[in-house]
Amino acid sequence: MSHALKSLNTIFVVFFLSALLVASSTVSFASPISAELQKVVLDDKPEWTVTYRLDKPAEQIVFLRNPDRSRTTRWLPQDSDIEIAYDDASHQEVVRSQSGKPLTTVTFLLTPTYKHLGKDYAPFSPFSDGGNAIHTGRLFACANTCSEEDNEWHLTLTVPSDEHIVLNGKVAQKSVSWIDNNDGRNVYVGKQQPIITENVVALIDAGLPESIKVSLEEDIPKIMAFFSHSLNSLKGEKPMLLASYANVDDHSTQGGTLPNQIFMHWNRQDLDEQANNRNFINQTLWFFAHEVAHLYQPGNTDGVSENNEQSWLHEGNADYFAALAMNFLYEDTSSYVENRTIRAFESCIEGLEQTTLANAYKTGHFNLYYSCGMIMHRAIDNVVQQKTFGEESLFTVWQRLQKAVSKGMPPGTTTFLTLLEPYNAPELMKAINDATRNDALKAIQGIEALYQMNQ
Ligand SMILES: [Zn+2]
Repeated sequence: MSHALKSLNTIFVVFFLSALLVASSTVSFASPISAELQKVVLDDKPEWTVTYRLDKPAEQIVFLRNPDRSRTTRWLPQDSDIEIAYDDASHQEVVRSQSGKPLTTVTFLLTPTYKHLGKDYAPFSPFSDGGNAIHTGRLFACANTCSEEDNEWHLTLTVPSDEHIVLNGKVAQKSVSWIDNNDGRNVYVGKQQPIITENVVALIDAGLPESIKVSLEEDIPKIMAFFSHSLNSLKGEKPMLLASYANVDDHSTQGGTLPNQIFMHWNRQDLDEQANNRNFINQTLWFFAHEVAHLYQPGNTDGVSENNEQSWLHEGNADYFAALAMNFLYEDTSSYVENRTIRAFESCIEGLEQTTLANAYKTGHFNLYYSCGMIMHRAIDNVVQQKTFGEESLFTVWQRLQKAVSKGMPPGTTTFLTLLEPYNAPELMKAINDATRNDALKAIQGIEALYQMNQ
């Protein structure tokens, strides 16, 4: 899900996606298709291809993720009989043979530039030295049709001998094969060695302005330490941080998280001049803190699917936790945080005059989950602290949510709201309930009441 919020002349696109189509299932079937992604360098020019091999010939190949129709122009079939067409009825891109021959092996030449996908991760995030972060979910494909049971994707990645792969935090040479699943992951291909620190395995574009590089190397670990201390610390492998930069005529900054991964990409020309602008620095810190907060959210790290209309829980929480992290870690950011909070309240109210939280994702108002969600979390934090005389806070509630989800409870709003019941705060519960109602007046009253709870 993406949302764009305008500040200064910058379009700042922040995006977070949790599992879309993957139903939780104890049985998973091996996909009959294997995908081989290959990079070769010919006359200094990189060429990326993907080849699909089918055990059994199929009429068509379809993709698990169909955010738009850009494969039809960015993937070039290497056989004139093969085409990728967009099927309007099923809203998906379909690979088929024009002569009607069954498909057994098909190869496409890919366009390895940055492409913003509104409701998905960017397929390629180019680094300025020629490296790339690649989102594997883009390659997930099925023979004839994808079903909900398809959740094992056989991938092979092959790279030139003077480059390497970083997969799940580990460096590999030449070629690596693995079975991918859920929303996929980002994999790095290029010449840069990862920086391995106590908290993260990082690949930071050497072309980024010095101040941003330093911030990535120093602030992200600081922010992670803050959340590890305030919440239950992360389990499993060390997270990967991928930060890439394409110095091109565009204005977007995109970030996202996948289990154990944070990634950000800057696609713009003015980073050098912006890098010393105080407001831009604060925006960047907020952006980092928001993405790091997602890593600690149950349901995100577990790759469990979430309903769109419940996004106020994860986006609102990530924004409010970003505010707390900034206030705690950086002394001179309090007025920035305060202004952003006021703006969140105002834009939430404006948005609710046009749509409801339940419908916001359908009507192009995804930003409401950030703004209204942040005001909701801020109120909850305040009420919990009041009711417990400062013994507990929103962090306590989220720690309990982490535990509840690890014991098998669903990671959505129902579990979260149940955890608020023991605080015996009927006014808070009523205001949250009102804010999420389909009645515009009630929703606005709910948010106003929540906003006041912090005065
Ligand atoms: Zn987010």
